[in-house]
Amino acid sequence: GPKDYQFMLRLKQPAGELPPDLYRLLDDLSTKHGQGDLRATTRQCFQIHGILKGNLKTVISSIMNMGSSTVGACGDVSRNVMTTPAPFVSKEYQYAREYSKVFAQLFRPMSPAFSEIWLDGEKAASVETWAKEVEHHNVDEVMRYDNGRGIVLKDETEPIYGTQYLPRKFKIGVTVPGDNSLDIYTNDIGVVVICNENGELEGFNVMVGGGMGRAHNKENTFARAADHMGFVPKEDIMEVMKAIVAAQRDHGNRDVRANARMKYLVHTLGIEKFTKLVESYYGKEIAPWRPMAEWKYNDWMGWWEQGDGKLFYGQHIDNGRVKNEGDFKLKAAIRALVDKYNLHAIMSPTQSIIFKDIDPKDKDGVEAILREHGIKPIEEVDPNARLAMACPALPLCGLAQTEAERIMPSYIERMRALLNKMNLADEEILMRMTGCPNGCARPYMAELAFVGDGAKSYQIWLGGSPVLTRTAQPFMAKMNTDDMEKTIEPILAMFIQQRQQFEAFGDFCHRVGLEAIEAYSKTYTLG
Ligand code: SF4
Repeated sequence: GPKDYQFMLRLKQPAGELPPDLYRLLDDLSTKHGQGDLRATTRQCFQIHGILKGNLKTVISSIMNMGSSTVGACGDVSRNVMTTPAPFVSKEYQYAREYSKVFAQLFRPMSPAFSEIWLDGEKAASVETWAKEVEHHNVDEVMRYDNGRGIVLKDETEPIYGTQYLPRKFKIGVTVPGDNSLDIYTNDIGVVVICNENGELEGFNVMVGGGMGRAHNKENTFARAADHMGFVPKEDIMEVMKAIVAAQRDHGNRDVRANARMKYLVHTLGIEKFTKLVESYYGKEIAPWRPMAEWKYNDWMGWWEQGDGKLFYGQHIDNGRVKNEGDFKLKAAIRALVDKYNLHAIMSPTQSIIFKDIDPKDKDGVEAILREHGIKPIEEVDPNARLAMACPALPLCGLAQTEAERIMPSYIERMRALLNKMNLADEEILMRMTGCPNGCARPYMAELAFVGDGAKSYQIWLGGSPVLTRTAQPFMAKMNTDDMEKTIEPILAMFIQQRQQFEAFGDFCHRVGLEAIEAYSKTYTLG
């Protein structure tokens, strides 16, 4: 009908945690007051789409009633900290979770804005909804982590930030060596827990200056992978985090909103000068980056042993959409699991959900519930669907220029057909799609990305790494959605001909370069 204002509520879930009561509430609210489904985001939280204005109050107050909450003003500070979702009980994983919460608390502005209400792609309001069960750290505890030095940088009324808010969003990621399940290079600050042989915390490798957002035809905006800054001993990590934030606060570009993210400051200065700047606040030199295990990408789907006799189970969710549709009843399945086993969940950074602390004797029961609801076991999901992400785009996002989530499943099928036709059936390619260049599904890190640049049209990006450590490059603009096979087939043909042994598609594109791919594509005759 005529425009009924439909709002979107985004929950903030520290470290992605989702206690069973909160899940049940979200499930109920989405049924009663939303469009009937839930959307797992790329930043470890749920969104409820399609809340009518008249229902907004009810939705907000019921979430607020679950925890200690207040309605706050909507500042420009994100206290969104991501962390590896794998609930292993090893010390290093515990440190990663613990510090992600501490950083969230450290960077918590005085006027908290935990849940956000969005209307047509614009933030309309923010609400603090922080379920009690997941609030593990208060300011006093943070000060303990901070060696008792306190968290005040400038102005007591606004710790950390001084009298001004940080420009734009500020994203932090925390993980352990080797686990890049969270796209750590896309954060303003990425922190890697470094332990000694006994598993005791020594300190952190710190990277800075990542970020996805860009605009088409604006050369001064770009996606960027973070640079390694160095190693920081554990007793100094809070000081260094504050020093980084202070450097950005005092030197970040406040005049041009498009260039306000810290990645532009790191880019402009270069990592060496940026590090010197941070050292000038920190008062010490930052040690070299510690060598550590090679990065892997793992989505942590399927069954895993946590290390304490319990299991965790990752449920893949296509593009994060938790819904019931025909025989596929994912939403009902998750509710049944949460109700029967009172499962505590963790949202994954790649739009999926992990249930932790499962008694091994319940494994069969969990699998039975999933089967009864038409959910395929992970082994039967197309590996390319499992790797893929798409943002909500049309019709839910006001900034979308074209489709993403709604057509991604058809792209996966079309790619499957193309790969099969070219005898590349075993190839796994990490694909991402967004409806605009804003980059919510982190397309610029993918091996192959489709970034909406008009009605039914996409910019193609190639050459990200399968372990998500470098950005891709723009290959062509304005690909009509009907031309996907025509565009990708020549690239796959060149890949078959010229790849090195075990070389991944993204690594291949990165090695040969986009000019060579373009030249090859021109001479290629479609098969
Ligand atoms: Fe909207 Fe997708 Fe663009 Fe994000 S990337 S602003 S969800 S269209």
